[in-house]
This record gives sequence, C-alpha cells and structure tokens, in this order.
Amino acid sequence: MESKRKLKILVDLEKLNTLNPEGCLACGHKFTLGEEVVLARGKWQGFRYIHENEAVFDKKTNEHYEQGYYAAMKETLRTMGHREQGRQGGRP
Ligand SMILES: [Zn+2]
Repeated sequence: MESKRKLKILVDLEKLNTLNPEGCLACGHKFTLGEEVVLARGKWQGFRYIHENEAVFDKKTNEHYEQGYYAAMKETLRTMGHREQGRQGGRP
C-alpha cells in the first residue's frame, strides 16, 4: 500500500544543487526546497527528476512518466492497437 509513496522524494539542499543547473525538464522551472519530485521517463534519456504533479504514474510498468510524454505514448499504443484489431478481423 505504501510502495507508491516511496517513489516520491522531497527536494533537499543536495538535490537542489544537483538538479538546478538544468531545472525541471518538464516545466523548465527551477526546483525549490521541500518540493515533491519523482524520477520519471520522458523525452529525455532514462530517468530524470521532475515535479510530482507533472508526472503520471503507470501501474503497468511501475514507473513515472512526464504527462505530455505519457499522453503521446498512450496515443501511439492506442493507434497500434486499432491496427492490430483490424488485421485480426480479416481472417479467412
Ligand atoms: Zn516541473
């Protein structure tokens, strides 16, 4: 029950120094002390820290994704799914 909570972390001074040269890749703003951040996938390589409220948690993969990236990903999957269904319909 508490496993999802663990993924969330608060920005401390150390994180602030590490992350703020780039800032948040999702919104482009700098992080501030005490903000909630999560490691998320996005249009960047691997996992990066972004604001918790800009991330979507995917139960299937157990990972966070940047909102826009997640929406695009879902859209791609849906389109692919439709194509798959169409193919199955044409059975001899
Ligand atoms: Zn952000």
